[in-house]
Amino acid sequence: MASLPVVSGPVGPAPEAPARAGDSTPAEDDWRWQARHTLRGLDALERALRLTDAEREGIRRAEAGGFPIAITPHTLGLIDPRDPACPIRRQVVPVAAEAAEVPGDLRDPLGEEAHEVAPELVRRYPDRVLLLATDRCAVYCRFCTRSRMVGDGGGARSLARLEPAFRWIEAHPEIQDVIVSGGDPLVMATSRLRPILERLAGIEHVLTVRLATRAPVTIPQRVTDELCAALRAAHPALWVMTHFNHPRELAPASTRALARLVDHGLPVMNQTVLLRGVNDDASTLEALFRGLVRRRTRPYYLLQADPVRGTGHLRTPLDVGVRLMEQLQGRLSGIALPKLIVDTPGGRGKVPITPDYVVRRAPGRTTLRTFRGEQVDYVDPPAPSPGPSSTASAEPPGGPTA
Ligand code: SF4
Repeated sequence: MASLPVVSGPVGPAPEAPARAGDSTPAEDDWRWQARHTLRGLDALERALRLTDAEREGIRRAEAGGFPIAITPHTLGLIDPRDPACPIRRQVVPVAAEAAEVPGDLRDPLGEEAHEVAPELVRRYPDRVLLLATDRCAVYCRFCTRSRMVGDGGGARSLARLEPAFRWIEAHPEIQDVIVSGGDPLVMATSRLRPILERLAGIEHVLTVRLATRAPVTIPQRVTDELCAALRAAHPALWVMTHFNHPRELAPASTRALARLVDHGLPVMNQTVLLRGVNDDASTLEALFRGLVRRRTRPYYLLQADPVRGTGHLRTPLDVGVRLMEQLQGRLSGIALPKLIVDTPGGRGKVPITPDYVVRRAPGRTTLRTFRGEQVDYVDPPAPSPGPSSTASAEPPGGPTA
């Protein structure tokens, strides 16, 4: 499918969740019910959606040992059953194109296996590590960076299995931040997740823990008051990193989930993956980012999709993201506008990409292009002249004492 055109005219918000994704019944509002009724194969999907041949082939391939399928009833309720181009459907229903290899495809695009420092522990930056607490998710997203291992078996990792990772962190005082991910750690039972967070809270130099989860999108019923209270109690500086990709995902149950997290004192941030035919137009992103901010959730990254094998049909060229950022700059406030990020292949780290707003540079003068297309000069202040009034000395008044 071709990429949708980038909107070049005025940006207007796209709609959020449709009527069909409205409030759920009491049974549907129980996350265990959602988990029990999750759709996992061709027969279930055939009953729920009018499938295309390409989808049938993709589902059969997934059932035969490919990246597994899981679609919660909540997510199914967001899908247009008649529209194969539905942006929610494109994220969760496999298609035949997953079998195609395209240039750039990698099995492990972020080089996580090469950067594993202990079982289930990945280090790519000096001050932070990634802890893979489970391989399970409520929904298997077709663009997943970890499709090589997610849903692969093993389920939630026990404390004993993670102990070498905890010991490695204890032995490395430069690690101040731990991202707990998977899989989706919020599909773990609270009784299994909480001890992991408490174990991290007991490591003095770990100042922050980030919980990376798509549960507020895919199974928002999981975000109960009881869970939020347990998370809040488990670690003093726990952040929740969610993953909304389309404004339709901001359904009433998801809105309640975000409100619960924030009301319990948990800061919530969102990273969106830029996906072809899902959110690669400015009006969709504008509605998503405005909707997140309205729900007290900060959109902090717009991620260029990682070159995961089998996702070529969902990825956009790099310049699409740059043009989208250009269209959104000035239309959205700073708190609603994320950074466009490329996570470099091989695990070399994230690189921010921005449109070029510098028209020319001359000594002491830079000409900038504003979001309206005007050119404006910024003149540097004169360089400070060295002299007796210089404040560069770090010595205490009175000079050296030894
Ligand atoms: S929830 Fe996250 S880890 Fe699970 S399939 Fe989706 S993107 Fe991958």
